[in-house]
Amino acid sequence: MTALFIACSDGRVAPCLSALQEAEDALDADRLLVPGGPLVLTRPGTERRVALDCIRTTIEVHNVRVVYLVSHQDCPAYDRALGGLGFDQQELLERDLLRVKTLLENTFADIEVRCFLVPWRENGGGLGFAAAEPVE
Ligand SMILES: [Zn+2]
Repeated sequence: MTALFIACSDGRVAPCLSALQEAEDALDADRLLVPGGPLVLTRPGTERRVALDCIRTTIEVHNVRVVYLVSHQDCPAYDRALGGLGFDQQELLERDLLRVKTLLENTFADIEVRCFLVPWRENGGGLGFAAAEPVE
C-alpha cells in the first residue's frame, strides 16, 4: 500500500504518527507535515492551493491510494489560527477532518481518506499524547 500522511509538524506528535504508521502497516508512507496538519486545507486561498499541489504531486509520483489525515488536540497552530480552541476542540477538529476528507475525495479520483485524532491526555505519562483514534 502506498500512503500519504498529512499531519501537524508539532514534534510532540511525531512519536504518535510513527506509531500510527506502524499500526497501519505503512512505515514507508510519505508525510506532509505543516503546522496544524489538515488545517491548511480548511480555508480557500493560496495556502490551500499550494497544499493541494503538493498532495497532487505526491499522489502522482508515488501512486498513493490512501491518504491519512491526522489532527491533534492542544495544537498551537490551530489555537493561533482560530484565536483560541476552547472546550469543544475535539468537535472542531473532527468537523475539519471530515470536511478535508470530502475535499480530497472530490479533488482526487480513486483515493481513500482515513481520519485520525491524537488526543491530549492530562495524565498520559511521558509524552502526554495517546495513540491516534479513528474519526468517523
Ligand atoms: Zn499541531
